[in-house]
Amino acid sequence: MKRYRVRPGAPIRLDRVDPDDAFGFRGAKDDARKELERLTARLAELQELLYAEHKHSVLVVLQGMDSAGKDGTIRRVFEGVNPQGVRVASFKRPAPDELDHDFLWRVHEQVPARGEMVLFNRSHYEDVLVTRVHGLISRPVWERRYREINDFERMLTEEGTTVLKFFLHIGRGEQKRRLEERLDDPTKYWKFRETDLQDRRRWAAYMLAYEEALTRTNTTWAPWYVVPSNRKWFRDLFISGQIVGTLEGLRMRYPSLPRELRATRVR
Ligand code: AMP
Ligand code: MG
Repeated sequence: MKRYRVRPGAPIRLDRVDPDDAFGFRGAKDDARKELERLTARLAELQELLYAEHKHSVLVVLQGMDSAGKDGTIRRVFEGVNPQGVRVASFKRPAPDELDHDFLWRVHEQVPARGEMVLFNRSHYEDVLVTRVHGLISRPVWERRYREINDFERMLTEEGTTVLKFFLHIGRGEQKRRLEERLDDPTKYWKFRETDLQDRRRWAAYMLAYEEALTRTNTTWAPWYVVPSNRKWFRDLFISGQIVGTLEGLRMRYPSLPRELRATRVR
């Protein structure tokens, strides 16, 4: 797993990460399925503990091009967790009142409370990605925003939030296959937007914007993971493994019986 964790400060080069990679699990898809089952069960236990202890909170950021698998990850990795204590926040094109505020305003409102886990389906990173690629902001603005994002995430971590950020890395060919599938499958038409093709045409500009954004916001307190995502089973395994590992590192414990209840228990 460490292989995909880039040292803070070091440049992130997306062309050096193979989206087809399935490191450690080559040719053993069945083992991967079993391992995912084990991890999702473990994630459910840890989330229960997170909720019960009511001390830490967890923010999972999912970014990626259209069809990279943000929705699929949410469905698969978190299928075992208790909906009480887990929430998804999806960030779409900002509404007029949101545009009238600073870019973190709508984001801050959605961060997890103590004991809670929140999954960001897209995030404040759109404000240095789509806005940049579509020419809505200039270099000084996105440069400033990298700093503002780092400060914001540092504040969250200092206040007890664990921040994990995943970039779902797919190849351009894989995206073509997935978008075509959306136009061929009546149960997937709803996912397709004409604008997906406009973004697809700007693939190189997006990769450049991603590389720079990931590099500049890959901090010790809020690390980025570049997830090879052409193979869905590897993507799910990677992300659940990373979240489980991080939650285990928190050394959480169920609250002990309060003093005033000890007598009650004996009685
Ligand atoms: P989807 O994730 O497919 O539902 O699409 C959501 C759309 O909203 C994507 O095209 C995003 O690029 C866009 N979006 C999300 N956040 C922002 C933002 N802050 N500024 C502009 N567009 C955004
Ligand atoms: Mg979409």
